[in-house]
Amino acid sequence: MVKKIAVLTSGGDSPGMNAAIRAVVRTATHSKLETIGIMQGYQGLVENLTIPLNNRSVSNIIQRGGTILRSARSEAFRTVEGRAQAVETLSNLDIDALLVIGGDGSMRGLKALSEQWSGQVIGLPGTIDNDLFGTDYTIGYFTALDTALDAIDKIRDTADAIDRVFLVEVMGRMAGFIAQGVGIAGGAEEILVPEQEVKLESLAQDIMSAKRKGKVSFIIVVAEGAYEGGASLLSQTLEQQTGIECRPCILGHIQRGGSPAALDRILATKLGAFAVQQAVQGLSNVMVGLINQQLVGTSLEQTWQQKKPLDPYLFELEAILAQ
Ligand code: ADP
Repeated sequence: MVKKIAVLTSGGDSPGMNAAIRAVVRTATHSKLETIGIMQGYQGLVENLTIPLNNRSVSNIIQRGGTILRSARSEAFRTVEGRAQAVETLSNLDIDALLVIGGDGSMRGLKALSEQWSGQVIGLPGTIDNDLFGTDYTIGYFTALDTALDAIDKIRDTADAIDRVFLVEVMGRMAGFIAQGVGIAGGAEEILVPEQEVKLESLAQDIMSAKRKGKVSFIIVVAEGAYEGGASLLSQTLEQQTGIECRPCILGHIQRGGSPAALDRILATKLGAFAVQQAVQGLSNVMVGLINQQLVGTSLEQTWQQKKPLDPYLFELEAILAQ
């Protein structure tokens, strides 16, 4: 029977992690479980950095970005010895189940831990990238979209006034979910993602033909991993090829910040509560997610081994609407 759980946030932080922690703690209290918070991700497990959590310690955090438990990347945890120290911390605290909120690296880490520890492990998808299989959306994705969109709207105001092309680089080394989302919502002329090869020649043609047609602005949303050298190199290359001024704008870490959007808070709340309920049911080695509005569990390996596809319909629409 589960009596005591631990929760940590790991890897790149994302808005909504606090809402997930709050839901975990309060659902645990409701189920008569004790909750321990682990500070600084897996590093905190290695170094035994823990705090007791109760309903009051998670008051007034649902609206705050970042994570009250701090997040970190841990090199020590990547080693068998480091994970053995983590197991010692968990055993000394009598933890029955560990809940980890993070991205694909954190899910890999959790799987590795489960091979050395007999307690239950449950993952929650917390990343702005939305690149985990086993959930339609990840905690933080909606807020990152809104933040990037706000920047694109402002860039469009100035792009409208001046005759030049803007290349807006958004996060997404391996996946183009943010790029596709903000590209569609911001009415971008082109969306470049790591999942599709960038065809320089046709891109240059599109820019020149847009200028001939009298389009006043041209915005290209570029995911970080879409083009080697990123938006900076791509804009130099396109400027040379078209003779039209091209300006890169790299949004960077602002995309991780900010107060979580309503949809991230709701998703985080559902997943936090569901993760605790699944732990009580005795489940382990799964990541909880929301697919077609159904709460589900997916085996940890599947979350990174299988690739969640981008929406093909949105790409069809992009081609039609950008004319
Ligand atoms: P994210 O969870 O946002 O993808 P990272 O990729 O940085 O972030 O992963 C977070 C942490 O998870 C790493 O710092 C490391 O401690 C742990 N981790 C990642 N991959 C592995 C792995 N294959 N084995 C063990 N631990 C891992």
